[in-house]
Amino acid sequence: MITHQFDTIIVGAGGAGLMAALYASRTVSVAVISKLYPTRSHTGAALGGISAALGNEEEDHWEWHAFDTVKGGDYLTDQDAAEILAREAIDAVIELEHMGLPFDRTKEGKIAQRRFGGHTNNVTGKPVRRACHAADRTGHMILQTLYQQCIKNNVTFYDEFHVVDLIMNGDLPAGVVAVCLRDGSLHLFHAKAIVFATGGWGKCWEVTSNAHSMTGDGAAIAFRNGIPLEDMEFFQFHPTGLYPTGFLITEGARGEGGVLINGRGERFMERYAPKVKDLASRAIAIELREGRGIKGKRYVHLDLTPETVRRYKAEAGENADYYTPEYIETKLAETCDQGRTYAGIDPVTEPLPIQPTAHYAMGGIPTNVNAEVIADSDNRVIPGLYAAGECACVSVHGANRLGTNSLVDLIVFGRRAGLRAAEYSRGASFVPIPSDAGRKIESELNRIRTANGSTRPHVLRKKMQSTMQDFVGVFRNGKDLQKALDTIRELRREFATNIRIDDRGSTFNTEVLETWELGCLLELAEVTAFSALNRTESRGAHAREDYEQRDDQNWLKHTLVYRDGEEGLRVDYKPVVIMQYQPKERVY
Ligand SMILES: Cc1cc2nc3c(=O)[nH]c(=O)nc-3n(C[C@H](O)[C@H](O)[C@H](O)COP(=O)(O)OP(=O)(O)OC[C@H]3O[C@@H](n4cnc5c(N)ncnc54)[C@H](O)[C@@H]3O)c2cc1C
Repeated sequence: MITHQFDTIIVGAGGAGLMAALYASRTVSVAVISKLYPTRSHTGAALGGISAALGNEEEDHWEWHAFDTVKGGDYLTDQDAAEILAREAIDAVIELEHMGLPFDRTKEGKIAQRRFGGHTNNVTGKPVRRACHAADRTGHMILQTLYQQCIKNNVTFYDEFHVVDLIMNGDLPAGVVAVCLRDGSLHLFHAKAIVFATGGWGKCWEVTSNAHSMTGDGAAIAFRNGIPLEDMEFFQFHPTGLYPTGFLITEGARGEGGVLINGRGERFMERYAPKVKDLASRAIAIELREGRGIKGKRYVHLDLTPETVRRYKAEAGENADYYTPEYIETKLAETCDQGRTYAGIDPVTEPLPIQPTAHYAMGGIPTNVNAEVIADSDNRVIPGLYAAGECACVSVHGANRLGTNSLVDLIVFGRRAGLRAAEYSRGASFVPIPSDAGRKIESELNRIRTANGSTRPHVLRKKMQSTMQDFVGVFRNGKDLQKALDTIRELRREFATNIRIDDRGSTFNTEVLETWELGCLLELAEVTAFSALNRTESRGAHAREDYEQRDDQNWLKHTLVYRDGEEGLRVDYKPVVIMQYQPKERVY
């Protein structure tokens, strides 16, 4: 194995990984390992914006942002983390601006801000403009800006290196093992501090807004090395995914006046408002389940055409003369492109077919507010191991993430991870690499490369995705969750004993690596179904039809799931950090 040594290793080059790298590289040697070219990370797909209570457009306070975060998380949010997120977001966004991020501007030249669901003035309850944005390409701009800064700071990048295991020496991390995609060689990265920033795992589901690479590798690797996963039952569905791909259509489309219409031509959201107004995904799922999709199919319409939008606006007494085809083309340029390219539909003249789409992982690798990975319910820190971004669970999003808060999470906790990892690296020495390091993963990769069974991995992937979609989706119940858990376990067995692949080579062998990723997805799907079955209440994004109420008495706590033996799972709990915001009645 080829060996490299750096003070700090960062796995992942999305917003969280690059922010961590930037900060750590100011004082120690840093390498970023990424299976993708950095600027292809999913952060680049984020459209809507990044929130910070700058108060540039109207009165706002970080305390309001913190409260919205806690309330949006249905009180499962750790309030110390929410305060840090909201307070440090202000500096972090201004810092991005100083690094050169081209934010949109107000007339006075300040960073422009717009509304986003769940962001409120806590006194009046009215929406507040808090989301900072660079057109509808905010994530793209964050990624480009941070990448440039990292290059300037001499961060070493290992692009298209796929990390496949963590090396532990007793309780301490010593490094990671990665496969070089180009030639299949195995590399050992020896480090004092390791930061996981590998993103989410939307690919567990059939319909998802997530890119192909979102396979939860970091969370699965941590889990396989004895680290628990926190709050995995909470996975957010976004209401407007394009049918059939699940590509995200921005919330802005409804913000501009787009209306949701079912197979009977009804503007059905009216029926659900105001109770579940913010949870359109649930309303759409009910319409589809009760057979009111368009032509009985699994989608409803999002109608952005001037004719419809003007008619509804006129009924509401609003003048909508401005709402012309040109207006839509300008305001929703990306959406128009997406409709035309991926659904063959022009949103200016025809309604878009949409369905809820698996979007964001609230759960993940448990960390404290300094991004240090914790090993158990007593918050025992694993020295030298960090996680940030979507793969981590701080837990700042609780049971449901507030729109735009993920980008804030990357910047705020990515920065904390980088600072803390560098500080630790400066004081620590290298943990010796055990003599058998990497053997287990090497033999697993060989098993996959030479697999000669009868089932193709894509068959297992499809079955896993449809199982998760049908039984661990927007609505859940005990019977279906048990069915899902049994099916996923069968798929895992099949994966371990009877797969077959064709490419036995070493050059750009994406088949081996995608099969290995499938193993990660299966592992995370199992933990998700298990955690969802275990939590007998409804909270945030976890909606149980057989337990409809939020149950603070029994369930105001975080779930921690551990691997127990080869196949078993074990559950434990951790209290929620509650400071000044006492749990109030359910939001949704
Ligand atoms: C379509 C879409 C729109 C969104 N819009 C918004 C929005 O407007 N506002 C908002 O706040 N949030 C939004 N989100 C959520 C947000 O973009 C993501 O949660 C966030 O970008 C995740 O960032 P990250 O740094 O954690 O990971 P990512 O950006 O996903 O990056 C993961 C990195 O890890 C690397 N990696 C993964 N596995 C391995 C491995 N095994 N070995 C080596 N490298 C590995 C990848 O190469 C990549 O560099 C959106 C998400 C999607 C999908």
